[in-house]
Amino acid sequence: MNKYDVIIIGCGASGLSAARAALANNRSVLLLDMGDKSARKVWVSGGGRCNFTNTAATYDKYFGKNPEFVRSVLALVKPSDILDWVKKHNLEYVEKAPGQFFCATTSSDIVSALNEDAQGADILLNTTVTNIEKQNNEFEVQTNDRNFNCKSIIIATGGVSYPALGVSDFGYIIAKKFGHKIIPIEPGLVGLKTQIFSSYLSGISMDVEIKTDKKTISDSLLFTHYGIGGPAAYRASLFDLNKDFHINFLPNLNVYDFLTKAKKTDGKKSLPTLLSIYLPARFAKLVCSDTNTNIADYKDSEISIVAKMVNDFIISGGTLKRLGLENAEVVKGGVSTEFISSKTMESKLCPGLFFAGEVMDITGDLGGFNLHFAFASGLTAGSYV
Ligand SMILES: Cc1cc2nc3c(=O)[nH]c(=O)nc-3n(C[C@H](O)[C@H](O)[C@H](O)COP(=O)(O)OP(=O)(O)OC[C@H]3O[C@@H](n4cnc5c(N)ncnc54)[C@H](O)[C@@H]3O)c2cc1C
Repeated sequence: MNKYDVIIIGCGASGLSAARAALANNRSVLLLDMGDKSARKVWVSGGGRCNFTNTAATYDKYFGKNPEFVRSVLALVKPSDILDWVKKHNLEYVEKAPGQFFCATTSSDIVSALNEDAQGADILLNTTVTNIEKQNNEFEVQTNDRNFNCKSIIIATGGVSYPALGVSDFGYIIAKKFGHKIIPIEPGLVGLKTQIFSSYLSGISMDVEIKTDKKTISDSLLFTHYGIGGPAAYRASLFDLNKDFHINFLPNLNVYDFLTKAKKTDGKKSLPTLLSIYLPARFAKLVCSDTNTNIADYKDSEISIVAKMVNDFIISGGTLKRLGLENAEVVKGGVSTEFISSKTMESKLCPGLFFAGEVMDITGDLGGFNLHFAFASGLTAGSYV
């Protein structure tokens, strides 16, 4: 068959979800993917356990030029809908942190469920779409193999992060061809390079609070050979790195109060000894290596400097650099949502052209928000084609 109601480019989480919705509306569906397996990013997601949704999915968990874009999609497909879908497939899941859901066994459960629901579609793997033409309200989809025609098309080609899995910028090229703007791509949810912290700290993990741009991230931070990693740094990578970052390494302790009190109660102890009650010893030593001076001999103004290093360590804007796309879980940027309907995912410039998932300029925070958006935008696009 060469002619379909809808052709979906990309067999990832968003494309397969779109297929499910389109099939439910009795559309004939062709799914095309250049890879040899569907949902390759779902396989590797969540460290192989797929963090598939999060009950905290609201627009403020998303980044992009217009995060409000996700409001309608999130109202249409809620985290509870994704949980119901998972239950319908009898998949076991765990709530690892409040509201954050993972597969109990492996992410292959979600991949199987996605594939199962797309069964009514024709699926061609190892098929690269090379061009799309529109003529007389119909699209011609050109591939490395042959050409197909359809009334509606869904671009679900994902982002260009993690190229080892096989990614392409085709979605951006096509969007541009039909008049859409592309917001420049940057790595997202990725470690941050910096020389500020000595490599001596490498391997230490701490629960920190990071403040930037009037937002607060509370999560665990890992010191690495390149700088900082772990969830806190990944989440920080979604923010504007030209702004200052304030790190509180002991969010539950006012270090100034603690040390000034210790001056009276534990005056003979050294600063690193006292700090290492709450901080990893290596970190405490780095904040203050002087083990010879008793805390009682410190002036309050000197204590204030040390306390600030722990409770409000400032990394000046422009100092942190993201690791590359090869390490990034997602991309920031993509097809601008300016001319995409937030209710249907259809292009306002080219009727019949729809977008779903990471290809758009919408990036979710760490915690299952990206897959939730991929499912939700795919289901939305699929139900309107
Ligand atoms: C290591 C890692 C861990 C992650 N963990 C999580 C997690 O736990 N929770 C979470 O919410 N998110 C996670 N993410 C992010 C999440 O996986 C993605 O945001 C999501 O899978 C994107 O889905 P998508 O359908 O939009 O795109 P993709 O899954 O990237 O699918 C796009 C598809 O389009 C195909 N394609 C592209 N161009 C063409 C073309 N020209 N012709 C044919 N086919 C083409 C590609 O082959 C690909 O299969 C993780 C990502 C990575 C890399």
